[in-house]
Amino acid sequence: MTSALIAVRQRAGADEPAWTLDRSGARIEARDGERRLAAIEAGLRRHPDVDVAAADAGDDEIDAVLSAIHDADYLAFLAEASRSAEADAPLLAADRAEPGVVPDTPVCRGSFESAREAVRTTVAAARRVAQGAPCAYAVCRPPGHHAGPGWMGGYCYLNNAAAALETFRGHGVHRVGVIDLDLHYGNGTAALLARHAGVPFRSVHASTITHFPWRPVRPLAPSHGLHAFERAPAEAAWLDRVRDAVSGVAAGCAALVLSIGFDVVGGDPHGDWHLRPAALRSVGAIVRAAGAPACVVQEGGYATRVLARCAHAFAAGIADGYGKGRR
Ligand SMILES: [Zn+2]
Repeated sequence: MTSALIAVRQRAGADEPAWTLDRSGARIEARDGERRLAAIEAGLRRHPDVDVAAADAGDDEIDAVLSAIHDADYLAFLAEASRSAEADAPLLAADRAEPGVVPDTPVCRGSFESAREAVRTTVAAARRVAQGAPCAYAVCRPPGHHAGPGWMGGYCYLNNAAAALETFRGHGVHRVGVIDLDLHYGNGTAALLARHAGVPFRSVHASTITHFPWRPVRPLAPSHGLHAFERAPAEAAWLDRVRDAVSGVAAGCAALVLSIGFDVVGGDPHGDWHLRPAALRSVGAIVRAAGAPACVVQEGGYATRVLARCAHAFAAGIADGYGKGRR
């Protein structure tokens, strides 16, 4: 029997970064790290319909995907900065943030290698979906949705969601919709998708004035639809928007890329919403009921205590829908 969800496990790597900057430019402890991945995988594995697979995409495949997404000089800069940064002195490059956004994400020793492993994980997940899996979940870090063509931000260096889209295209799957449900607006994903006319994109997020990227945003293409909550939403209101977002892209799409962020849940150090982990079960059910196979990409979610519960709830929602839809 095909598993309802395949969790793709990232190869072990570095555990940077040590710090990041808050809105005022003050250094704060960075919350992204490999413990997140262990918690998320543990939560997914607790569900009996989940199988685990290795991130088995090759270096050539990764390089081809990266060069299709990111500017060559940006990739060269990242590789060099990641190699040369002193272990205790990450490099903050002011000219490598999105124009108009305060630089907040330093390049640490090993940042590029870790981000590349996240892309490898995502490419492997998308390939499994392109080859027939109903749902594959890239358990990856660092996140990617704030990384644009030539810029980084919000812990993100390389864009995993765009890598999933590119992988689908490489396997002949062209009608792909992208949904971003992280608490934060995926400014990098939006900028990259705007280069491809007609790719449907929906984002449900917190105010971009009071949260990263700390500025007003507007849809970058006619096929983009954004919904911002000015205040922390009630669960039912959030799920209504999630349902709208999924149904808005799923019709007519052969596959979905779902950027998921568990920073929507109460207690997140980078979020101020109060959703319960159980809300993710409804998200899984909504995605599964939409009928298109999905590559799920991990974005944010930094309250390590609740990540396993979020992941398990999502897997249960996917598996419930899968069971109902299976003949
Ligand atoms: Zn986020």
